[in-house]
Amino acid sequence: MTIAISILGGLIAGSFLNVCIVRLPEEESIIRPGSHCRSCNKEIPWYHNIPLLSYAILRGRCHWCSAPISLRYPLVELTTAVLFALLAERGFPPRELCIYLAFCSALIVITFIDIRYLIIPDAISIPSILVAPGLAYVAGHLSVTDSLIGIAGGGGLLWLFAWLYEISRKQEGMGFGDVKLLAMIGGVEGWQGAFFSIFAGALAGSLVGISLLAARRGKRDTAIPFGPFLAFGAITYLLAGDEIIAWYFGFPR
Ligand SMILES: [Zn+2]
Repeated sequence: MTIAISILGGLIAGSFLNVCIVRLPEEESIIRPGSHCRSCNKEIPWYHNIPLLSYAILRGRCHWCSAPISLRYPLVELTTAVLFALLAERGFPPRELCIYLAFCSALIVITFIDIRYLIIPDAISIPSILVAPGLAYVAGHLSVTDSLIGIAGGGGLLWLFAWLYEISRKQEGMGFGDVKLLAMIGGVEGWQGAFFSIFAGALAGSLVGISLLAARRGKRDTAIPFGPFLAFGAITYLLAGDEIIAWYFGFPR
């Protein structure tokens, strides 16, 4: 039952996250106007705006002008629904679960905006950093001290990496947006989560980078956004961090 509710909630939340992904980088309001086609500007009635279903029924095209609808819409809805269900299944206490659902939603928005624009919106990362210690105090999923150390440690470590990269290769490799993102992750998951995210993210990033090189899809200096990999690491930590850490330290080479 909980799983069914979380899937449904995830689909609805995902639909809203799509609005954020499209409008935040354009600095438009995420509340008004209501959903409209980005091509012909016609309003989209609710029955053409049902998560996943409408995309399938409309065959990925606007009902009025037949302009193609990005595959990103159903993809975001599906991802959100699956992550909500997986989080609900972990059996976190209610307050903690609410925080993680909101946190994952923020990470989904950040991921898709970073892929498209190579930026991480301050409108998400900065407020999240500011509220994170307060949330730790209210929900008690980690101590306020761990949250603060997570912010300083996560942000500081990535800042150091970015600075070392810059002086050694004489070019900017990582944006300051990534620094703020890891500070946000550290604020919610503590320094443990921040460290986990940076290692899991770097590992996933290298694998994808190598695959892209092998497929000759990218040059050595092609900009690959790092934000999605940090987000991947942070979500993995919530879903399976304990198991992975126990496995890693339980079976030394
Ligand atoms: Zn249209």
